[in-house]
Amino acid sequence: MNLRISVTDRCNFRCRYCMPEEGMQWLQRDLLLTYEEIARVVRIFASLGVSRIRLTGGEPLMRRDLARLVQMIRRIPEIEDVALTTNGYFLKDQANDLVVAGLARINVSLDSLIPEVLSNMIRGDHLARIWSGIEEIERLGLTPMKLNVVLIRGVNDGEILKFADLARTRPFIVRFIEFMPIGKDDGWAVEKVVPTQEVLERIRRRYPLTPLEENDNRPAERFVFTDGTGELGFISSVTEPFCTRCDRVRITSDGKFRTCLFSLQETDLRSMLRHGATDGEIAEAIVGAVWKKEEGHLINMPGFIRPERTMSQIGG
Ligand code: SAM
Ligand code: SF4
Repeated sequence: MNLRISVTDRCNFRCRYCMPEEGMQWLQRDLLLTYEEIARVVRIFASLGVSRIRLTGGEPLMRRDLARLVQMIRRIPEIEDVALTTNGYFLKDQANDLVVAGLARINVSLDSLIPEVLSNMIRGDHLARIWSGIEEIERLGLTPMKLNVVLIRGVNDGEILKFADLARTRPFIVRFIEFMPIGKDDGWAVEKVVPTQEVLERIRRRYPLTPLEENDNRPAERFVFTDGTGELGFISSVTEPFCTRCDRVRITSDGKFRTCLFSLQETDLRSMLRHGATDGEIAEAIVGAVWKKEEGHLINMPGFIRPERTMSQIGG
């Protein structure tokens, strides 16, 4: 099982596909799990066999001294790997502390290499600053780093080959993500989704690709360039749901356990943590929820209900 922990619902960006420009209501601080509470929960998950943790948000680097949390989690013997997903804005300043604390891997979201296109998508002129964070990670040697690209038709799909070239020339694994209907006012429409098969075809016209064997429990389908010069990933949540092989579970920043991004049900671990539950009782609640993990989501089908929370509130 792969556990993703949202450490905050706040964000300094307002990406169009994720949240509205105005009117986001942030959680009160006392509702967020403390680092000590997060570490306890991770120890319980570790006792259930979890060894890989990803910290996310909102923007995780907005939470003060995230490196301290990374270090606390790294010290749990069963945890082999702590990773981070970030928008990159605070990365240059914090990269060194995170690496020293034991961060193993990092994903930076970067949807366009053209300043105006990116500014439009994330509602802010931040390309240069994000790029300097990416270069700092490269300098510190935490590579290969993953670049997450949400593709939106008519917006950034003209850059697919440019991103493919980046995966060939720099130590980056570029991961193309299908636009999902999960944001509030995200403007989602099926026509705006660029299906993975189409992206693959466009890239294959220029570069032959070979699928990697180990497309096992990971949502991303992985390919290498056949000439051996780099790797690409595809997250096809809309057109080719990976639910049957999905091993992801999530904890929201206010301590709710979710077994699917699109779950309509949550298990309130924060209440248990704050009202004297034992580790055994919390473990039992987690196992009970995992047994009920959804078989699949219904995006684009009759029965699909959007979760009320945005991706930033759930923890993407
Ligand atoms: N703020 C951090 C960031 O942007 O990397 C971490 C949280 S963000 C919610 C995690 C990932 O979710 C990002 O890579 C983002 O691009 C992706 N995401 C957000 N809304 C999405 C949507 N509607 N469809 C697909 N991916 C989305
Ligand atoms: Fe913030 Fe990440 Fe959502 Fe963009 S995708 S608004 S950076 S949480």
